[in-house]
Amino acid sequence: MMEMTILSGKGGTGKTSITAALSGLVQSAVLCDNDVDAADLHLILHPDIIEEHAFASGWKAEIDTSKCKRCDICLSHCRFDAIHTNAAEKLVINPFQCEGCRLCERICPEQAIRSEQYTNNYWYVSNTRFGTLVHAKMGPGEENSGKLVTQVRKKAKEIALTNQKEWIINDGPPGIGCAAIASLTGTDLALIVIEPSKSSLHDADRLIKLIESFKIPVFALINKFDLNLELSQSIANYLKTKNIPLVAKIPFDKAMVHAMINKQTIVEYQPNSNISKEIKKLWHKIQLSTHTIDLHPTI
Ligand code: SF4
Ligand code: SF4
Repeated sequence: MMEMTILSGKGGTGKTSITAALSGLVQSAVLCDNDVDAADLHLILHPDIIEEHAFASGWKAEIDTSKCKRCDICLSHCRFDAIHTNAAEKLVINPFQCEGCRLCERICPEQAIRSEQYTNNYWYVSNTRFGTLVHAKMGPGEENSGKLVTQVRKKAKEIALTNQKEWIINDGPPGIGCAAIASLTGTDLALIVIEPSKSSLHDADRLIKLIESFKIPVFALINKFDLNLELSQSIANYLKTKNIPLVAKIPFDKAMVHAMINKQTIVEYQPNSNISKEIKKLWHKIQLSTHTIDLHPTI
């Protein structure tokens, strides 16, 4: 079984449309949406949820003002400046600033502080027309995306092993934050989606530097390459210097948007379009490459 994570240095590069199209081409796969902050693979795959699980995202402290004697020990010890005085001169904790370290709870001499685990995040196992999808939804203001990504990937792996699937396809998050790191840890290969803009190249460069530290094979594709041929050539040259195979140059086509509106992948919507042909070739190249690269080299 192999696991491929599709990433982009920044949002809006068309990563999810490409992932969805690949999902329809991979014959034996479990799909996994690692973009838990802004999951949108489900918009194309419209899954039927068969399992729903709450995911504890951390602790939040709360002060029982009837017990509080205003010694202010907690106020002076909270390193995150989460404890404030309200209009009634009572101490309150701002849940958005509270990091859930639980120090205040331990040091309060009156036992006036209690912490509760927040379960604002949920993850799901669903059926889709392309197989099982593991995905998640983070509550507003939640920050534990890395842990949630690790959870959905763990479940995807369990399902893939139980059902003897050949692939796990991860729709990774944009950027280089903890969700991207959690998406890359232990994956077999990465596919980066870049669009021909200076910011996309800059962000892809940061992402590639991150991926380099994982020492895994990397492929890249340029989406909407014909919108700026000069920049696309610069990206191709850059990839060459990094020894990263450019496995596809996808042209701009409004059909990609129309496919999304129709809740279809581009390969379903227009199987004979240039984009669909490029994506099919890209998948073929990746499959061929996995036969020749050592996915688990000794370091
Ligand atoms: S440490 Fe306890 S008693 Fe002291 S101010 Fe904080 S909540 Fe009130
Ligand atoms: S749990 Fe930690 S971060 Fe939250 S209010 Fe208490 S001391 Fe501050």
